[in-house]
Amino acid sequence: MNLIEVMPIMKKYEKCPKCGNTKIGKRQGSIRIEEDTFTRTCKCGFKIIVDENGKEI
Ligand SMILES: [Zn+2]
Repeated sequence: MNLIEVMPIMKKYEKCPKCGNTKIGKRQGSIRIEEDTFTRTCKCGFKIIVDENGKEI
C-alpha cells in the first residue's frame, strides 16, 4: 500500500472502533501495513484487516 491509500484507512482506524483506544505499541495495539493489506489490532481484542480500498477482508 502506498501512502495515499494508507492515509484514509489510518485515519479511520487510528481510534479503535470498539474501545476508543488510540495507542499503538506494546500491549496496546498495532498497525501493520503490508503490500495489499492494512491490519489494526487492539488490546481489547479488536482486529481488522482491510484492503487498499478500505474494504474489510
Ligand atoms: Zn480496542
